[in-house]
Amino acid sequence: MATSTKTPDLDAVVIGAGFAGLYMVHSLRDELGMSAQAYEAGDNVGGTWYWNRYPGARCDSESYMYCFSFDKALMQEWNWSGKYPEQPEILSYLNHVADRFDLRKNIQFNTRVTSAKFDEANNMWEVQTDKGDKVTARFVVTGIGCLSAGQIPNIKGRETFKGDSYHTGSWPHEGVNLAGKRVGVIGTGSSGVQSIPVIAQQAKQLFVFQRTPQYTIPARHGTVDKAFLDDVKSNYDEIWDKARHSTGGFPVDPIDRSALEVSEEERKDIYETAWKEGGFKFVFGSFKDIALDRRANDTASEFIRSKIREIVKDPETAEKLVPVDHPFTSKRALIDTNYFDTYNRDNVTLVDIRHAPIEEITPTGIKTEDAEYELDVIVFATGFDAMTGSYNRIDIRGRDGAALKDKWAGGPKAYLGVASAGFPNLFMITGPGSPSVLSNMPVSIEQHGEWISGVIEYMHEHGQTVIEADQQAETEWVAHVNEIAEQTMFMLADSWYLGANIPGKPRVFMPYPGGVGAYRQKCDEVTAGGYTGFTLGASTREPVGVS
Ligand code: NAP
Repeated sequence: MATSTKTPDLDAVVIGAGFAGLYMVHSLRDELGMSAQAYEAGDNVGGTWYWNRYPGARCDSESYMYCFSFDKALMQEWNWSGKYPEQPEILSYLNHVADRFDLRKNIQFNTRVTSAKFDEANNMWEVQTDKGDKVTARFVVTGIGCLSAGQIPNIKGRETFKGDSYHTGSWPHEGVNLAGKRVGVIGTGSSGVQSIPVIAQQAKQLFVFQRTPQYTIPARHGTVDKAFLDDVKSNYDEIWDKARHSTGGFPVDPIDRSALEVSEEERKDIYETAWKEGGFKFVFGSFKDIALDRRANDTASEFIRSKIREIVKDPETAEKLVPVDHPFTSKRALIDTNYFDTYNRDNVTLVDIRHAPIEEITPTGIKTEDAEYELDVIVFATGFDAMTGSYNRIDIRGRDGAALKDKWAGGPKAYLGVASAGFPNLFMITGPGSPSVLSNMPVSIEQHGEWISGVIEYMHEHGQTVIEADQQAETEWVAHVNEIAEQTMFMLADSWYLGANIPGKPRVFMPYPGGVGAYRQKCDEVTAGGYTGFTLGASTREPVGVS
């Protein structure tokens, strides 16, 4: 490995100021005493929660677990009002964190990182931004989100539409007045399912353009009970410990019961109870094999189908809403507030574009194969170029000037989802190949942040300035991720987990489906082994900055 001859301007550049970027700035600067500079495209902190301001936007994780755990006082002082935190409340929380730890002084806003190039002679990165900044840093840490590169499908005539159109992931900050408007929403993923019931209440008329029907469980949203929150706060250590070693990053006890070993009556009772209680307990708290065994899964899928038929009054609309082409949990599991009920409203029309696809967007609306819909507003709830899109829009170049985008052309390749061979000193928070989007994100973000800080501290202690994932370890990890995915329902749907929503994107399962507990254990083993699967190199110079 090359030895350092120059001293970089900074110890680390952090990209992004969402949960991941904020935590990383705090961790590197305040815990390791390093010089860290973050760049953020938005004009404030928040990441996902800065951009996604569509009506009804909120998180599917319960609020008491959708937060940081690194500071005990912070955990005690913040009070959530909603059971599921709404976008404005999460954004307030992240602003509070930024203020409380004085993080803004190391974040440059309104600045997008355009390129990061590894300087092999000096073991450092050269980072450039759209504002003309050029800095060098020993490490680059990406906190650029898994779902931040919005995707608007290239529908013929889109640019001819004379009304207003919005993507849910870049909603105007001042809001959109939909009163008296004829609105079309394209897409029924998480963003569509959350926004449709709220838009229905605001708009004069709502047309939902649905390609794939969804399974969704009632969230049973409400306010947070004070006694519950007090109880949580007095047991936070235990609760977090459980979440950190769980499958999904939630503090739930594993269920050791198969859906196939109970009577039909008992099974129905269990599903009914979970449905009434609401939220992801339907998945984590009912049976162990819903997501793993097709016959077990059929029982859950069929139960949800029966609920849709029960809730939606018009049988023809109900049938269009019933998913039959993919099993429950093969796409992102959803929870909702009044989603299916919304189709009972007089001002809501479901348009099945699976059977009569959109032909074009016209100046006045949307034309499908069998009808034309006059609209004032089109909402694209059409998702994201997930997991890799946020990387591909930065020109990241590693050894020999090789582009990460080219390396990942056949699907993302990263060891533990945190580092990629050929790209030394680049750490990806919740990158492809880590639990990330299959988990409660703050739990995974903190785990990655702690692990990355740990490596950097270790390098400092051992006088090393370069770390790189080994090719073989990476190849084996990517194969392992896909091996586990093959054992789940995930391979049985066209989902963004597999890149299926982006024309031409290779069909590769991207997140690690083995659970946050198993993943943490693997990372801990890698650490205990002196960073097995990585090569660390020494420099003749003192490592910079760490005090
Ligand atoms: P998404 O899950 O990818 O859903 C996109 C929707 O648009 C799907 O219904 C898709 O149909 C449809 N679509 C895409 N391209 C289309 C086209 N060309 N023509 C017609 N329909 C098209 O995107 P999302 O709803 O924004 O959610 C993405 C992820 O963000 C979620 O899965 C979740 O992880 C996260 N998220 C979380 C929350 C939360 O915590 N509550 C909220 C929002 C988002 P097909 O299914 O047929 O492809």
